[in-house]
Amino acid sequence: MLGAGYGSLMVIKKLQKTLTSSEASITLINKYPYHYITTRLHEVAAGNLNPLKAMVPLAEIIDKKKITFIQQKVRGINFQNQTILLSDKSELQYDYLVIGLGSSPETFNIKGLKENAFFLTNIDSANIIKNHINYMFSLYKETLKEEYLTIVIGGAGFTGIELAGELIHRKNFLSKELDIEKDKIKIINIEALNTILPGFNAELITYAKNHLEKLGVEFILNTPIEEYTEDKVILKNNKIIKTKTLIWTGGVRGNNLLEASNIKSKRGRVEVDNYLRSLEYKNVYILGDSSIVYNEENKPYPPTAQLAVEQGKYLGNSLIATLRKKSDNIKEFKYKPKGTIASLGKSYAIGILKEKKLKGKKAHILKKITYLYWLKLLGGIKLIIRRFF
Ligand code: FAD
Ligand code: NAD
Repeated sequence: MLGAGYGSLMVIKKLQKTLTSSEASITLINKYPYHYITTRLHEVAAGNLNPLKAMVPLAEIIDKKKITFIQQKVRGINFQNQTILLSDKSELQYDYLVIGLGSSPETFNIKGLKENAFFLTNIDSANIIKNHINYMFSLYKETLKEEYLTIVIGGAGFTGIELAGELIHRKNFLSKELDIEKDKIKIINIEALNTILPGFNAELITYAKNHLEKLGVEFILNTPIEEYTEDKVILKNNKIIKTKTLIWTGGVRGNNLLEASNIKSKRGRVEVDNYLRSLEYKNVYILGDSSIVYNEENKPYPPTAQLAVEQGKYLGNSLIATLRKKSDNIKEFKYKPKGTIASLGKSYAIGILKEKKLKGKKAHILKKITYLYWLKLLGGIKLIIRRFF
């Protein structure tokens, strides 16, 4: 099992609950000794949430008697030989493989992004953003150069919007703490298309935009970012924004490792069959952001934690049936999205739940409930008490 994200951990929970040690030998490989709650990374990056609150030690989730945990970075997968290459250069053999390695940022080869921009991908990258902003604001105090106080967010999808909402609150705190005039701090969200949250409900988009603008977020729409040097963002209309901080939230692709492996992928995501198996290797299962699953209109579902969790629950059951030689009982994976909720900083959110539109504080409460639900799935009420309070 590769990766301790939303998808894989659902599989692990099911397998360790149901199988006996003699039925399977299960190994989980992950870069970190903890699972990180991706859906709260924007809060960590803005400095509004203690990173410990967005991390769950795997020791609190895994049953050590049934699951062997290896903390290593996966460096390669050899699908023909059925081996995993690890960062310490050791190799591991598998009979069945579950890949849940999440995503990598999609930079569309935009000049200077990989080298100079910041990405919101894990706890480390969120901490880097937080510390960088603090450092830049402190440098402003020394130099009075206003580019140190300008934060640009590239892309106004859900990640960009949630981050903008958090940063605007941080702005108020830092301006007081560092004695910086509030109006000098700029949070600018740049979007290539003519709307924030492209494809989402129009009424909720308007609400979100008005809400964030009222708090001080500046939006530049219909204007793709074309380049980022260390100190300026260059836009398609040739406009230049001086900044030492570009946080790129312009989209994701499948984990780069898959693209580098000998398996067919589209932007790093691997197409799976109706049982979440690779089309090429039937003993390889792929879920979450690393996989592509199509909806009834033959369009790929957007990669979300919600989808990864549902795939994980399904795969847990189907793997058990496979291992117990009851494959005939396995039904196809069917997904029905429940909705989407996006935070707009402290106390506000927008969302659609079962086609019902929600906004404001109600939506915010629902967002908190989805977080509690995830903690419950991972470790029951005990984990909620340990992590939430
Ligand atoms: P992930 O949860 O990304 O986990 C991948 C795991 O693989 C990680 O533990 C990582 O450490 C490990 N890994 C990666 N590479 C290696 C390697 N080479 N070797 C070893 N281990 C490795 N979705 C929603 O549904 N609702 C939300 O509210 C929401 N909010 C979001 C907010 C933000 C700020 C972001 C960035 C995303 C959000 N998403 C949300 C999307 C959601 O987080 C992802 O779709 C989800 O995390 C995908 O789950 P996964 O199981 O594929 O992998
Ligand atoms: P995304 O692909 O949803 O949004 C990226 C945005 O960046 C798009 O609006 C795109 O037009 C814009 N963009 C691309 N190139 C650009 C350029 N050159 N200049 C300016 N803008 C540019 O990516 P995301 O927001 O990172 O989300 C990734 C996945 O995670 C999605 O499936 C999303 O639904 C999910 N997610 C969900 C939530 C939630 O449910 N609350 C929160 C975060 C992410």
